[in-house]
Amino acid sequence: MQSHTILANERPRQRMVSEQLIARGVTDQRVLDAMLSVPRHLFVDSALASRAYHDCALPIGSGQTISQPYMVARMSQLLELQGQERVLEIGTGCGYQTAVLSRLCRRVYSIERIESLHERARKNLRAARHANVMLKCADGRLGWEEYAPYDAIIVTAGGFASDVWLEQLKPGGVLLLPEGEGGVHRLVKRRKLNNGYSEEYFDACTFVPLLEGVNHY
Ligand code: SAH
Repeated sequence: MQSHTILANERPRQRMVSEQLIARGVTDQRVLDAMLSVPRHLFVDSALASRAYHDCALPIGSGQTISQPYMVARMSQLLELQGQERVLEIGTGCGYQTAVLSRLCRRVYSIERIESLHERARKNLRAARHANVMLKCADGRLGWEEYAPYDAIIVTAGGFASDVWLEQLKPGGVLLLPEGEGGVHRLVKRRKLNNGYSEEYFDACTFVPLLEGVNHY
């Protein structure tokens, strides 16, 4: 049943990749392949499945959203993953970006602060058989000390960087986040150096806010 559903949605996925990603300059073939293979429609409510491949973010409950396909691909490409990395993600949401990352690196550690979304991501990722993913429900601003240091940290909620993130990166590792406030963000990529970090700014964007603490509902 599920494999049938996946096949049935291959066409819209191919169109999404050519019209929304390649057309806008996503060139990393590994990222394009991952976006082509992850069944995005299985990560959203069935009522929204027909819009899963549209060029927009969609609600996933608890006032949160699954990012627009282009933004997922863009951020994945900016991480420049080769396949051997261990990546920390802050903001699991429904687990879609997590699934894409899991095809691009060795292991993904992902943190979500809303318990119901954390549980939902767990189900989605189990259904999609992603074995190289570890999830936890916690405040991602504290990082995940146990498995540090990471090759890359990606933040999928908008705000300002926590100092802990750079500390939990390997030297040469990359931190990518939508920086800013009030729904006005800009992607910034910081690379940890022996003495501080370098930074580059990219797209203007809008993300749901990075918040403190954990929500047990
Ligand atoms: N990558 C997700 C996008 C989810 S939206 C996807 O593909 O679906 C961003 C998520 O970040 C939300 O689910 C929100 O609850 C979560 N978030 C916000 N602040 C957080 C924090 N401090 N720690 C962990 N998760 C956080």
